[in-house]
Amino acid sequence: MANKLNLLIMGPAGSGKGTQSEKIVEKFDVVHLSTGDMFRAAISNQTEAGKKASEFIDQGLLVPDEITIALVEERLMQADVQEKGYLLDGFPRTIGQAEALSQLLAKIQMPLNLIIDLKVDEKLLVERISGRRMCEVCGTIYHITYNPPAVSGVCDLDGGKLYQRSDDNEAGLKVRLAEYNKSTAPIIGYYGDSVEVIEVDASQTVDQVFASIDTKLESLLND
Ligand code: AMP
Repeated sequence: MANKLNLLIMGPAGSGKGTQSEKIVEKFDVVHLSTGDMFRAAISNQTEAGKKASEFIDQGLLVPDEITIALVEERLMQADVQEKGYLLDGFPRTIGQAEALSQLLAKIQMPLNLIIDLKVDEKLLVERISGRRMCEVCGTIYHITYNPPAVSGVCDLDGGKLYQRSDDNEAGLKVRLAEYNKSTAPIIGYYGDSVEVIEVDASQTVDQVFASIDTKLESLLND
């Protein structure tokens, strides 16, 4: 039986990583480690790392590994990761990051026990990305058609204003998809048979996708 869930969720921009991560964290109480969220927080707090990262993010490019890995290392070393387990979302995105992650996880003795690979037709992604909105207070993700808030433009949870990410446009998405196919998708091959992978059809509704993930996580905890 796995007594902790040590998870990695993968998938291109718009596949639903952030949305599914919110649901996984809500039910299983693991630490959510999203490098995209960490960069957005660093940018809004105008830190040095945030200033450097925004030059890349706004063009849809990957932030250099040394900045990204340092951020992840700092977070993984915190005590709640040991207590709760973790969900990596948006990291690793390159083989170099995957290698660095292997070393960090060996150091904290918390190896990955599952990779959730969200598969979705690229044609769907443009529609999902162009309708995506986020709460400027808590970061909750909405979609103007598929997952709208009760009141247009306002977060259901805290009344925060919803905004569109600066990189959520068609040109940015093209660059991010190319980066994903070139640098990130090969990571599955890096792990080979050493970590279990479940592929989930992420073109389904949010609840259907979560139901598949939920069943798998319950069985990991109870096996
Ligand atoms: P996300 O919220 O995961 O879509 O990430 C938004 C943007 O942050 C990406 O398009 C990259 O520019 C940057 N980013 C997030 N995670 C990473 C990472 N692991 N390595 C490099 N850049 C990243």
